[in-house]
Formats: sequence, C-alpha cells, structure tokens
Amino acid sequence: MVNSNYEYSQTLLGTTVSLTIHEANEAVAQAVFTTIKILEDKLTVNRPMSEVMSINSAAGKHPVVVSWPVFNLIKQALQISLQPNSYFNCAIGPLVKLWKIGFKGQQVPTDEQIKQHLLLTNPRDIELNRKNHSIFLKRKGMEIDLGAIAKGYIADVIKLVLLKHNIHQAIINLGGNVLTIGDSPLSDDKCWHIGLQKPFSKNQELIGIIKINNSSVVTSGIYERFFYQKNHLYHHILNPQTGYPLDNELDSVTIISKSSLEGDIYSTILYGLGVSKACEYLQNHKSLAAIFLLKNKTIVLANTDNFCFQLLDKQYQIKL
Ligand code: AMP
Ligand code: MG
Repeated sequence: MVNSNYEYSQTLLGTTVSLTIHEANEAVAQAVFTTIKILEDKLTVNRPMSEVMSINSAAGKHPVVVSWPVFNLIKQALQISLQPNSYFNCAIGPLVKLWKIGFKGQQVPTDEQIKQHLLLTNPRDIELNRKNHSIFLKRKGMEIDLGAIAKGYIADVIKLVLLKHNIHQAIINLGGNVLTIGDSPLSDDKCWHIGLQKPFSKNQELIGIIKINNSSVVTSGIYERFFYQKNHLYHHILNPQTGYPLDNELDSVTIISKSSLEGDIYSTILYGLGVSKACEYLQNHKSLAAIFLLKNKTIVLANTDNFCFQLLDKQYQIKL
C-alpha cells in the first residue's frame, strides 16, 4: 500500500494545473507541463499568436495549413457543431469575443451587434482540406473557438504521456477538468475522490464528493465566468442560435466519462439541452454519466453505475 502522494503544479491554461502521482518523478511532471504548454500554444485564442489564431486571422482570405493535432481536433469539433440543433458550435468565436465574458471589457452587446455576429458563426463556412491539413474560414471576421473542449483534449493527451512513462495511477486537474488514471493508491475504496464545487461559492465550498476510477470528470458551470448587469446574470455558455447566454434551470453539468474530450463536449451540449432532454439523451448513452446541479438546489444524477456520489451540503436534495 502506497501511503503518500506527490503533487506538482504550474499556472497554465489560465488556471492552476496539478498532477498527483504516488512517487516523486520530476521528469514526468516536466513532460506533462511541457506537453500542456505546447498544446496551449497551438490552441489558444486568448493570445495574438497560435495555430488557431492563424486560421482566424486568415478568415475570408486564404486557407492555413495546421499541425495534425489541431486539424484533427477541429475536424471533431466541426462534426459535433454540424449535428442538427447542436448547442455546441466551434465557430462561436465572434460572439465570445463580442461579449468578452470573464475578460476585461465584458459587456452586454446590442441586439443588432449580436445579429451581425451570428452571421459569422455558421460552422458550414469552415472548410477542411484533408489532403494538406488546411483550414479555411470562408467569411472575414469568422473565428474558431475551442474553449469548450481544449482542456478535455489536452487531458486525454496527458494520459497518453503518463502511460508512456509507465505511470498507471495518477490524477491530473486542469481546473474544471479532472482526469484520473487507474485506481487511487491511497483510499480504501481504491477510488479517486473529486470535490464537486458549490456554484458561486466564494470559498471553494463543496456540494459533494464524486468517487471514480480511471475516468474523467468535467464540469461546465455558469459560475465559472459571468458578470451582472442590472441584476441580470450573463454567463459564458452561449446559445449558438440566439447569441445570448443559455437560459435554463441549470447551474452546472458534470460529465463522468472515459475520455475527457467527450466529457468536455457533452458538458456543454447537455448544459444546453437542459436537464430533462439531457436525461433522455443519457438513457441511450450509458457510457456517459452526469450530475446536474439545478438552480433550485436539486441534484439530478444520471447513469449512476459509473460513479458514486456522496452529498455533503444538506441544502441540496438528490433526485435520481
Ligand atoms: P465549457 O466551460 O467547457 O462549457 O466551455 C465554455 C467556453 O466555450 C466559453 O468560455 C467559450 O469560449 C466557449 N463557448 C461558449 N459557448 C459555446 C458553445 N455554445 N459552443 C462551443 N463553445 C462555446
Ligand atoms: Mg466543455
């Protein structure tokens, strides 16, 4: 029985990234952080330069050849964006930049501005060329935004890096995205214990503990980035049809899945569907489990075969 953990952390992806393993291994930690840096440099849209920004800067002008990981991730993001009535749209960038939610200058745009920017968010205007891995945004002003899935993708790559280094028990936390590998060496139940954050809590209070092994836990919550104007809360998960923040009964959706990319995609999509349609969807997709936190302090659990949940906050009530 291993009785200690080693935690390594760095500020990356706009958050604190931490890796926990049960033997000291500085080389593995550095390999993990270097991989994250390389992928962040390719995928970010929060800096002037990245591969995704080079596609965005060439919108309406010319295709841009990108590396295989970037092409492949955008290809997957596009497929999901093109599904009928999808709440996920990787071409949402112009609206994200217009609202600037969570960034300096955040503002409620005018209806007219939203209408104009919506015209630049049609995923059908993204052209992929599989032969040379180039991507072309057909209209000037279009912008790809992978903010809803980049961390999920990166977490899955980190898992491969760890396995390559023969690490078979680990937990990686990318802030909102947690990926566990294997069993936990420290707890009697062999599960990793992941705290589920209380929405809008100022001191990181937890609603409960999620117990899993070898799985990813991803949360999309409206408390992650938001601002108030005239007593109205505006948050960062936008409705691709209207251009406004999605408005429903949910504070957050947490997805438990094998792949973190899948978890990240579905945390956003199921947030958009709302709890009742999302639960219908999950009935036919048993590989995904979910925890819905409703604004009325109800917790809805779906597909509970894949995890255990221990409630800590008695203000909340669980509904299965
Ligand atoms: P997440 O917390 O994973 O749900 O991702 C939220 C982030 O994804 C936002 O900060 C935006 O960058 C981006 N985003 C917002 N709305 C959407 C949407 N409907 N589809 C895809 N990406 C979105
Ligand atoms: Mg997401």
